[in-house]
Amino acid sequence: MFNKILVAYDGSETATNALNKAIEMKMTLKDSFLEVVHVFQMVTAVLGDAVLTAPIMVQDELYEAAEVIANEAKQQVAHLPFASATLLDGGPPAKVILNYADEHQFDLIITGSRGLGTFKELLLGSVSYEIVQHAKIPVMIVK
Ligand code: ATP
Ligand code: MG
Ligand code: MG
Repeated sequence: MFNKILVAYDGSETATNALNKAIEMKMTLKDSFLEVVHVFQMVTAVLGDAVLTAPIMVQDELYEAAEVIANEAKQQVAHLPFASATLLDGGPPAKVILNYADEHQFDLIITGSRGLGTFKELLLGSVSYEIVQHAKIPVMIVK
């Protein structure tokens, strides 16, 4: 049914639940491939017409934090055949994930409902919301 499963992982509690569900699902689907992605996004602020970028040292530190999250995911899938974890960059997480799913012909995206953001009133965070809104393939959102 699902042969290529893409998991969006940011290290949060619901993303961990999503990853665990994905692993369970993968084990029931013979010959399926699972890839976990974490997206690093540069920190920028728009001020009028100018786009301000955080100092390089701050970016470096954030990139290292992203590597830690990606490595966590790698460890989680290390015991599985046909599974991998990848650190992606190049833009806003939802866009990067949707493009990646398209380009590599995934047939299911699994995300957590919320992430590392602090505002928890809404059911979905902005990344999971944008993914489910724009994806051309089924999306599973795990709470
Ligand atoms: P917001 O970011 O809008 O403040 P939030 O952090 O609570 O809210 P989201 O960022 O939308 O919520 O996170 C929901 C899910 O989206 C996460 O559980 C994870 O599956 C995925 N996700 C979020 N950020 C990333 C990322 N940088 N890389 C990969 N997946 C991500
Ligand atoms: Mg977030
Ligand atoms: Mg956010």
